[in-house]
Amino acid sequence: MSSSVETRTSIVWDYAPAPESVDHVRLKDRYGLFVDGEFRDPSDGRYVSTINPATEDRLADVAYGGPEDVIAAIQSARAAAPKWAALRPLERAKYLFRVARLIQERSRELAVVETMDGGKPLRESRDVDVPLAAAHFFHYAGWADKLRYGVNAREVEPLGVVGQIVPWNFPLLMAAWKLAPALACGNVAVLKPAETTPLTALLLAEICQEAELPPGVVTILPGDGATGAALVRADGIDKVAFTGSTAVGRDIQAALAGTGTPLTLELGGKSANIVFEDAALDQAVEGIVNGIFFNQGHVCCAGSRLLIQESVRDEVVAKLWQRMRRLRLGDPLDKNTDVGAINSAEQLERIEVLVAAGEQEGASRRTVACELPERGYWFAPTLFTDVSPAHRIAVEEIFGPVVSVLTFRTQAEAIEKANNSRYGLAAGIWTDKGSKAFEVASALKAGVIWQNTYNHFDPTAAFGGYKESGFGREGGPAGLRPYLRVVR
Ligand code: NDP
Repeated sequence: MSSSVETRTSIVWDYAPAPESVDHVRLKDRYGLFVDGEFRDPSDGRYVSTINPATEDRLADVAYGGPEDVIAAIQSARAAAPKWAALRPLERAKYLFRVARLIQERSRELAVVETMDGGKPLRESRDVDVPLAAAHFFHYAGWADKLRYGVNAREVEPLGVVGQIVPWNFPLLMAAWKLAPALACGNVAVLKPAETTPLTALLLAEICQEAELPPGVVTILPGDGATGAALVRADGIDKVAFTGSTAVGRDIQAALAGTGTPLTLELGGKSANIVFEDAALDQAVEGIVNGIFFNQGHVCCAGSRLLIQESVRDEVVAKLWQRMRRLRLGDPLDKNTDVGAINSAEQLERIEVLVAAGEQEGASRRTVACELPERGYWFAPTLFTDVSPAHRIAVEEIFGPVVSVLTFRTQAEAIEKANNSRYGLAAGIWTDKGSKAFEVASALKAGVIWQNTYNHFDPTAAFGGYKESGFGREGGPAGLRPYLRVVR
């Protein structure tokens, strides 16, 4: 085992700072619960501050929904459900188009707030999260009057009131993934954002107001894990959709077992990014970097297990390390930043525990030398080699900027190692040979497989996992099915 946390060497890239302006952002001092089309105080008056993980500065106080608020939210949603379901599909579509356009209009503000609340680089929130959130509303607006064509020409109806719980890694985008198909199918939704990143969901609530969405069609219920637990167990919820950790997903599945309430779960992953010797290696290195350092590795489908064919292992590791040393970590609002802040102190601790386990178990660690800001939560890009498939860093989801390198000799071994996981969310295949890519893809037990690219998302494509990565699909026509009941 060896370990090296690099000390600053010759590579110093002096870019002029390029901070995004925050002057145009007008955050309120406090945000209530968005119930029945308006913001209101929580029944027990509880507000908690949400902070910027890059500075630890308070951004706003946000209401926490308690059990009484969950009941009130569901009552309001139930009252709105029949009218929304009976609305002509084309009219429902108009509302969704309006929401999509308003997201576009407020995109700068949404991107800045997403970055301040969550820590991700502005370049990502501006170029990925916000445009994709709008694209999901556009996409499902188009489906609203064509639902039958999305489900094999069957006759379908909405389920009613859906409870949706989203995590902190893509707060606005996950809200869009959940709300857009649910509403297009004629359901009404009660959505709980994550504790550490509630702000963009609350701005989305303002957008729903601006779009004059009928009260009760969308409810945003910020809070903590207890709010989420109360929501999934409440009477009057006709379907639950959850994205987050496998542990909580398991808990929700147990709570709903035997109730007949439909459930979709999008959970964790430990995805294999497989590099064959015939791949374009420079391109593959860019894909590896995008696969694991995008959003600080806080990505359920992150390519955190890097499988490299033995013959090119040294070359790929050398190129990767060289590329990693040029990543810029720091102020997420700076447009040059590649790696932003870790989302919370708790998440930083989880990453540190797993990285320490990697060292204790005998893997070799290399961590890029970065000047870490004094305040906030940071973890420098880290590469582990000499990793065995049994090491915790090869098995458990780290959800941070940490990649574990394993090797293989043959295609069969690559497939076996890639599938040797309790997860099955995503995989990447890097090869010049189309036939090899198809052969490997069809043998991999993963819901999403990219060839010669990674972390590419599109509203028309289905996303979801196998095994402990969950079940059900989001995106594209497949994303309609979980929100519809087939009548005939
Ligand atoms: P959680 O699964 O706890 O959080 C996801 C969402 O579920 C949040 O809105 C959370 O609320 C809510 N929640 C928490 N407990 C319950 C409950 N008992 N019933 C219903 N809803 C609940 O993820 P963590 O934030 O704790 O992250 C832990 C680990 O999970 C990470 O290190 C990562 O490995 C993994 N993870 C995976 C994600 C994925 O997309 N696959 C996303 C996020 C995390 P609140 O935030 O208020 O606690």
